Amino acid sequence: MLRVSNLVKEYEVRSEKIRVLDNIDLTVEDGEILGITGRSGSGKSTLLRIIRGVEPFQQGTVEIDGKVITPDSGIEGEKFLKSVTAIHLQRNFGLWNGPAIENVMRKLNYLRVGHESLPPIERLPHDIPNEYDELFEEAMEYLKLVGLEHKALHSTNLLSGGEKQRVVMARQLAAKPKLLLLDEPVTMTGPDTKQEVLDVIKNLKKKLNIPIIVVSHLPEIHAYLADRVIFLENGKIIADGEPTWVLKNFLRDMKPREELAQP
Ligand code: ATP
Ligand code: MG
Repeated sequence: MLRVSNLVKEYEVRSEKIRVLDNIDLTVEDGEILGITGRSGSGKSTLLRIIRGVEPFQQGTVEIDGKVITPDSGIEGEKFLKSVTAIHLQRNFGLWNGPAIENVMRKLNYLRVGHESLPPIERLPHDIPNEYDELFEEAMEYLKLVGLEHKALHSTNLLSGGEKQRVVMARQLAAKPKLLLLDEPVTMTGPDTKQEVLDVIKNLKKKLNIPIIVVSHLPEIHAYLADRVIFLENGKIIADGEPTWVLKNFLRDMKPREELAQP
């Protein structure tokens, strides 16, 4: 379970303090998808970055499975948050140029022995040494979770942007995260793969049984995925409730972008 309490985030711009998150309180249960929406600049990404442990905050707490992080937790707190979260960002590829599955195997190897390097496996799967069978099988399970098993042997430089992101996600899932954060998960994808990505997220919800947060400015994403939706405005939660109700009552003035307007 994730619980964020009284969270305050301020930036200092020319010695003036600007509050971008103002007393945020939210809870996400295991197996629940919380949708977050709101206008550009309302603080959605900042909130995810704090929960991810890559952004300091001034007040409040972030609690995951009973472990409480405060602004004073410092590096240790940030390390903890990074170790228990998986995050999907628009640009975080950092993939090794080789078969998709080897990228996941390298991560598994890192988690086991502290380094990513594997013996050269140029002709997967024929050349794979026996001791790596297990690593291969496990990596395949993570690729299945993100719906990419059919691309396991494809080199990452030949994958689409959305597919690369899914390999990145598979690598993160290998670390068995306790929390999944997705910032605008379908903005990079074409209309045909959009549905596929949404179904991957639904599948992860079912299989992982951990809290999931999906940030999107697209109402139809929340209508399809979210169990609950929060509406952020100027760093404050102004609505928290059942998706259809929040979307109907708080999205009135938010014009969907033309190219993304259709459900
Ligand atoms: P979008 O929908 O466009 O992605 P968002 O809701 O994710 O917007 P954030 O990126 O969280 O918005 O930004 C929230 C506010 O914080 C914005 O007003 C932004 O200008 C401000 N902000 C973000 N990073 C910094 C920074 N490093 N220094 C100062 N202000 C910042
Ligand atoms: Mg953002």
